[in-house]
Amino acid sequence: MSLEANSKLIIISSPSGAGKTTLCKLLIKKMRNINLSISYTSRSKRLNEINGKDYFFISKKKFVMLKNKNFFIETATNFNNLYGSPFKNISLSRKRNQHILFDIDWKGARKIRKNYKKEDVIDFFILPPSKTELKRRLVKRGRDNNQEINLRLSYAIDEMKHYKEYKYVLINEKVQNTVNEIKKIIEYHELIFKKKQILNSKLKKIINS
Ligand code: 5GP
Repeated sequence: MSLEANSKLIIISSPSGAGKTTLCKLLIKKMRNINLSISYTSRSKRLNEINGKDYFFISKKKFVMLKNKNFFIETATNFNNLYGSPFKNISLSRKRNQHILFDIDWKGARKIRKNYKKEDVIDFFILPPSKTELKRRLVKRGRDNNQEINLRLSYAIDEMKHYKEYKYVLINEKVQNTVNEIKKIIEYHELIFKKKQILNSKLKKIINS
């Protein structure tokens, strides 16, 4: 399975609370040629979340049914909830000749890397400046109760060990700087792609001359 090479699969992973969701939202505002892949989840909707915008919130039963119908590129279980990225987002981005952005964990990233060409995937791992800062951010966002925060912190330590699997690892100290860095890296890949295209067409001309 592969995308047109100028339509990249961009993956952003991080432990919960490192600022990944904010980063993704800002990146999409800055780069009009990126679509966000909206995942499906069996977890309950949080107060500030909108169905169809943040996630598609569905029951576990419906999730399993969709999974059995090969609706998802990848699925994962996090904090006892099911998450999955649908194939349909990729086909839509392909049609529009746009990149697609996945806000997913390392397990999902592994599956996507396995199924797509290396040069079509640009993956980032976002680290918080420190564990103390991570806890502060989890508490500050006020989304989860104490039990949930402690669960997320303990997962975070394990998740962080996977940063080596990613092409790019960034420390999210100032969100605007991190977004700009991500944007520059994506633009670098776009430039490389254009250069390859130009070179290929020149090579064709030389061969056929
Ligand atoms: P949250 O419940 O805080 O929104 O997300 C929990 C974790 O699940 C985050 O690390 C998030 O990136 C990850 N996640 C969200 N959607 C997906 C998905 O479709 N697939 C995978 N593998 N992980 C996801």
